[in-house]
Amino acid sequence: LLEERFGFGKCLLTTSCTDALEMAAILIDIKKGDEGIVPSYTFVSTANAFALRGAKIVFADSRADCPNIDEHRIEALITSRTKAIVPVHYAGVACNMDKIMQLAEKYGLFVVEDAAQAIDSYYVDNNGSKKALGTIGHLAAFSFQETKNISCGEEGMLANNDPVFKKRSEVI
Ligand SMILES: *Cc1c(COP(=O)(O)O)cnc(C)c1O
Repeated sequence: LLEERFGFGKCLLTTSCTDALEMAAILIDIKKGDEGIVPSYTFVSTANAFALRGAKIVFADSRADCPNIDEHRIEALITSRTKAIVPVHYAGVACNMDKIMQLAEKYGLFVVEDAAQAIDSYYVDNNGSKKALGTIGHLAAFSFQETKNISCGEEGMLANNDPVFKKRSEVI
């Protein structure tokens, strides 16, 4: 239902968004010495999932108008060790995904959307097309915890938007 309704790649239900983020870090093969760019304002598991695999967490400051990552501060933080950008769509407000995906393509990085708060939230891209949040990055993590938009008490979901992850994701 979630794949059809929102256009996500292969979806796997998890016990939490934290687990989905931890799976994402394993799937993109985060190792000691890698760096992940994360917004400075978020829930701890956005950073922890990557720190657990040995990544150095590089925090990008928020925009002036909302707590989302300031897309204009990301490029200066990218180094030869950067492996992932993890935008958080705070309160379901979309990050600037055109800019973030453009940087990811330019530097060969993965984008893991922390869409914990963003089920049924949308991004209108530079071409005017409306996309569900969590369909744009290579991977996306959702939460159905009790404080989120849709609650199952606990639970979460990993969307594998790049088919390259599908098989390993099912094994993990
Ligand atoms: C709630 C939340 C999480 C963690 O979700 P759980 O399902 O409780 O593990 C991760 N990131 C953000 C931005 C959240 O709001």
